[in-house]
Amino acid sequence: MNSRFCPKCGKEAKHFIHGFCIDCYLEDHPELVYIPDRIEVDSCTQCLRIRVKGKWISGREENIKELITSKIKTDISSPDISISFHDETPKGAIYRVDVRGKIEGEPVEYEKYVEIVYNRKVCDICAKKGSTYYEALVQLRPKSKEVDIKRMREAFRFLRNENRAIIAEDRKAEIFRFENAKNGIDIFFGSQRAAKIALQRLSQKYDVSIKETYTLVGIDKKTGKRRYTVTYSVRL
Ligand SMILES: [Zn+2]
Ligand SMILES: [Zn+2]
Repeated sequence: MNSRFCPKCGKEAKHFIHGFCIDCYLEDHPELVYIPDRIEVDSCTQCLRIRVKGKWISGREENIKELITSKIKTDISSPDISISFHDETPKGAIYRVDVRGKIEGEPVEYEKYVEIVYNRKVCDICAKKGSTYYEALVQLRPKSKEVDIKRMREAFRFLRNENRAIIAEDRKAEIFRFENAKNGIDIFFGSQRAAKIALQRLSQKYDVSIKETYTLVGIDKKTGKRRYTVTYSVRL
């Protein structure tokens, strides 16, 4: 006879702690393993990033698992926690959490399903993409009256590719739009830094003249600093 019955729930079990089955013992000692039933997290409907500790990060599975791990509290000795994706739900997903360890020398295995609920939001960068926000305007214009359209387009593509290369380190570079102007192309950069780097590279490749003008556009609500846009008048 290896198994007995738990006096609290009546279930048959192999391991007992102070006379109770492990489930009942954990229920009466919530400090030993705490795993929330559900975790709510803001998720951007446009780019699927999630907001963790105020920062928008990729919503990929390993980040979800890390978020779940950060919410688990356990006092059992040498805990081994594994988390796996279980199922999707209309509002998010279910993950399975397995905790293994020891309580007073008895091996403990505990599983729980955690519901992740995504709160539908739009992250700050995606919100700016849908607005007229920009930090730098590059006005591409020809040096002479003769407009070489081919050269103009080539320079535009060059700037666009340089900007794209910066996105990995500066998300604001995702904001990028252009308009055809009367005598050239206007390019709106979401990142001033990205525009500056792209123009530096352009001037290494082409013979260009660049003039910059700063315009005060307001005060940044978060930092309290004055916010400027820069206009680069680029002749090529
Ligand atoms: Zn029990
Ligand atoms: Zn987004």
